[in-house]
Order: sequence, then C-alpha cells, then structure tokens
Amino acid sequence: MDLFGETNNWVTNLAPILEKYKGRKHPLEYKNLYQLVVMVVLSAQDSDANVNAISPSLFEIFPNMKRLASSNVENLIPHISKVRNFATKANWLIEIAQTIQEEKNIPLAMETLTALKGIGRKSSNVIMREAGVPPEGIIADLHVIRVTPRIGLIPETQDGIKVEKLLMQILPKTIWGEIGMAFSFLGREICRPKPKCEECPINTICTYYKINKLN
Ligand code: SF4
Repeated sequence: MDLFGETNNWVTNLAPILEKYKGRKHPLEYKNLYQLVVMVVLSAQDSDANVNAISPSLFEIFPNMKRLASSNVENLIPHISKVRNFATKANWLIEIAQTIQEEKNIPLAMETLTALKGIGRKSSNVIMREAGVPPEGIIADLHVIRVTPRIGLIPETQDGIKVEKLLMQILPKTIWGEIGMAFSFLGREICRPKPKCEECPINTICTYYKINKLN
C-alpha cells in the first residue's frame, strides 16, 4: 500500500523503466572504483558533465588512491578548481584517500561508505549500485526527487533523505538496486522539468499524466 492508501503493484507498474534502464552505466565517465569515488564526491552540487570534463587531466596526475593519499590539498586544488566547492571537496578527497590508502580498501557498505567525508547516502547508493553489491537503499538524486511525486509514489518534498526513506517503505528490496537510477535516467531524458509525457514508457500508471490528460 502506498502513502495515498492505494494498493499498487509497483514492481509491475515500473517494469518498463526497469527494463529500459537496467544495468545502464552512471553518466559519470569513470574507469574504475577509485575514479568513481572521486567523481561522486566532486559531483555534489555540480553537474556530471562538468566533472566528466575535468576528470581526464585530474586522473593523469592522480591515477590511483595511493597517489592521492600521498598528495595534499594544495596540490589537488588546481586540478579541481572548476568544480563547485572545490576547496571543501579537496579536503574531503585527501582525507578519504589517506583513510583508505588503496583502491582495494574502498568500503562497499552503507555504514562504512557514509563514514567517509563528503559521502552521504545518495553517493553511497550510487557507488554500491555501480559496484554491483546488494543495495541498502535507493538512489534519491534531484531527478528522483522530481519524478517520484509526479508518478504518484510519494508526496512532494525536496528532502532527498526523506524521499529515499519513503520509497524504501513502498518498493520491495528486490528492485532497490536498479529503480533509483531508472527514475534518475527517466528524469534526465523524459521526465524533465517540462516532461515529455507522450514519450514516457510509464505514462499509463502516472498520476501527473492522468490529471493533466483530463484537463
Ligand atoms: S508520464 Fe510524464 S510526468 Fe509521468 S513519469 Fe512520465 S514523463 Fe514524468
């Protein structure tokens, strides 16, 4: 039963987007887990495209966690200065690298990931999904925050933590790993701020579509 008191088979209803986006790699163009962690930290409050643009030269200088751990904030800053909040992120990244030391030590569980500086639940969910480990939550980025109330899954809120919690109450764990990114891809491509509902594979089950079609 969802928060509106309706009994819905969300797994069946959401199957078209699960099918469409299943296994699609995250838009951050990382080549390994080390790069993913760094890029996820850099992408907070900034665009994936911007982080993708600065990353090749960054990873030429800092090719692995070991190299980053042996560096310092002053040396890192010039290579990430085009990213929003770069000084804070430089501090986080150096601290993460010095804590972890090597790529093989990157934790892949919610508790240990969120214990790292600059990595919250959203980032942890992204890292765990891309690493293919069992999910402990649902990715709730700004696209998910916009899309899921429109569909009619949850009430509107701008609080990503709340969105994730509500979705975890409604959706079975069997789809947690993929559904967050499926909502996110739908939001990036179709359910834009101005949604392209006629192209949407789940318009038949969407509350926003039902209401706006009738008007
Ligand atoms: S039908 Fe429209 S509002 Fe609903 S999920 Fe699809 S694009 Fe978004």
